[in-house]
Amino acid sequence: MPIPEIVANWIDGKQSLAATGETFDKFNPASGALLCKGARSARAEVDAAVASARAAQPAWARVPAVQRGMILHDVVKAMEARKQEIAEIVHLETGKRMSEALGECGGAIQLGLFYASEGQRLYGRTCQSGAANRFSLSVRQPVGVAGLIIAANTPIANVAWKIFPALICGNGVVLKAAEDTPATAWIMGEIISGVLERHGLPGGVCNILQGLGAEAGQPLVEHPDVGVVSFTGSAKVGRILGEIAGRRLAKISLELGGKNALVVCDDADLDRAVKFTALSAFSNAGQRCVAGSRIIVFDAVYDDFKARLLAATEKLRVGFGEEDDFGPVVNARQLANMCAAVKRAVDQGAALLAGGGRLEDEAHAGGYYMAPTILEGAAPDAEISREELFGPICCLYRVKDFEEALALTNDCDYGLSACVHTRDLDRGIEFCKRVRTGMAVVNGATFGSEPHMPFGGVKQSGNGSREPGTEAIDIYSDLKCINIHTEQDNL
Ligand code: NAD
Repeated sequence: MPIPEIVANWIDGKQSLAATGETFDKFNPASGALLCKGARSARAEVDAAVASARAAQPAWARVPAVQRGMILHDVVKAMEARKQEIAEIVHLETGKRMSEALGECGGAIQLGLFYASEGQRLYGRTCQSGAANRFSLSVRQPVGVAGLIIAANTPIANVAWKIFPALICGNGVVLKAAEDTPATAWIMGEIISGVLERHGLPGGVCNILQGLGAEAGQPLVEHPDVGVVSFTGSAKVGRILGEIAGRRLAKISLELGGKNALVVCDDADLDRAVKFTALSAFSNAGQRCVAGSRIIVFDAVYDDFKARLLAATEKLRVGFGEEDDFGPVVNARQLANMCAAVKRAVDQGAALLAGGGRLEDEAHAGGYYMAPTILEGAAPDAEISREELFGPICCLYRVKDFEEALALTNDCDYGLSACVHTRDLDRGIEFCKRVRTGMAVVNGATFGSEPHMPFGGVKQSGNGSREPGTEAIDIYSDLKCINIHTEQDNL
């Protein structure tokens, strides 16, 4: 198996366990069996990792950005060479099928390529000065040490989204791995440490910490030597971290949750709408910040759409194999939360149309499998309509027209993504213009980011930053304005 029995930290280019010797358990979501243990790091390991990043960062920043890009290109090549191994780890840690894990790996590699090339740009601006004989420009500088904290849902992509832009900007990195996917981050630590060593650079440029959020993540955000924090996770934790960073005025990027709407208009291609609804709600077991969990359907096509969606859902296969549509959720706690939330929704008056609980038959025994779940009749202000569940669960809502659909789409604390299915270009454009989200889609799924595109949300979905794309460079670099005064007299 490509996963060590105890998944270690990478600090200063070397593997190490927690000084206390403590570990945490990581279970295989497909079977419920123990998969591995992870080093249960705490403040002492955070201090060591930050000190190592801080000491290594100046040497890394002195490497010209173009050459940093070449070194990151070597990281990408090493990822390519070990793609099968990385994907197998993702497959085992998350329970998603191997082809999906390989696809995710491909996405992470694409993202690495994008940022490796960014070393040839890292553009500032030339500015017009109002003063005579003054030449002004802005340049990008590293922030220093970047503290990165990620979720487990697309683990190799999540590692890549943070590490590559942070490194290309010349920062030292400390990444706190998601406790549900420790080995995915660990293998990236091994790959990057190997590349740094080959180039004669200190291993402390990129450190990987294992551990639990409150014990290893929070001290990282609190650490005075961490100049920029980038967090991907829930709004609940994001709010805590925003406060901590705010207290010491550290830069922080928050990429948080969503409760995303997909609107089906009366003129939609219903087969297409059904296909993308099922993908938005259920693919990756609904563990996407951009999952479609509120399906808003025009009255005129509601019954027809509902019948087609239920028929498509019935055909979905849940499991660990190549033939399956989606796998388990990542841990037992998330599964229990989802089942309890569905039960509460039904108690509060929603009708259960499909699924509703854990799959416990022989094929799914022990694994954290949630049946694809569809409800209807939930009030727009009910908990199930407002709280993110991060699982294969969606609710149908009946509306009379476009204005009501748009109002319900926007009646949400989150603002990450939204989608409309319509054959009417005017409706599609109007929806994109008026929806309060960071991403708007016409006739597709609620998800679909790419390495060069700015991704992020409004309202409770984030604090305004955008990752990846060139926009992420704004998070991981500081702009410096330079004024150069010249004399004309002695030319
Ligand atoms: P979570 O917030 O519980 O945990 C995310 C990470 O934060 C983990 O690494 C965890 O260890 C760490 N953490 C937890 N408590 C912490 C604390 N007090 N201090 C520091 N770190 C702490 O989220 P989750 O349930 O693991 O992940 C799902 C959430 O992530 C969903 O809300 C989902 O929408 C969101 N997400 C957002 C995006 C995006 O780009 N907007 C992408 C993926 C996932």
